[in-house]
Amino acid sequence: MDNCIFCRIARGEIPSTKVYEDEHVLAFLDLAPVNPGHTLVIPKNHAGTLLELETGEGEALIVAMRKIGKALMEGGAKGFNCLSNNFSAAGQEVMHLHWHVIPRYSANEFLHPWPGGKYENGDEMARMAARIKEFI
Ligand code: AMP
Ligand code: ZN
Repeated sequence: MDNCIFCRIARGEIPSTKVYEDEHVLAFLDLAPVNPGHTLVIPKNHAGTLLELETGEGEALIVAMRKIGKALMEGGAKGFNCLSNNFSAAGQEVMHLHWHVIPRYSANEFLHPWPGGKYENGDEMARMAARIKEFI
């Protein structure tokens, strides 16, 4: 995509701080890191969200995230989050699929990235599962 910022990074038209690259995937540091080492992992082929990713293109992304996660752990992280925001309602600002790989440097730094809620009654959870299964 001509004007997509992450496609432009993948083509080398915009500078980035690359940490890993292979045929399918590029990983580079986020400009506004949660913690130092916060890395973005993207497919080189444009996909706006996970729903546009071609079947079979996911494995290279997982393999790259494992490489980044392992390197962060060996570099002193105590854990890491892999997180992908899909669609603006979920906080996606750059409309080229990406995973944030966020290193955590202390054991209790951020135990869970969001507060847990609860289902109102016993039925609601079962109904929600039925609705998801209906669309799979
Ligand atoms: P999201 O809200 O999941 O779409 O996150 C987009 C992320 O991309 C943000 O964390 C930004 O800091 C990051 N970002 C945007 N432009 C660049 C860039 N040119 N180089 C590195 N990171 C970027
Ligand atoms: Zn793109």
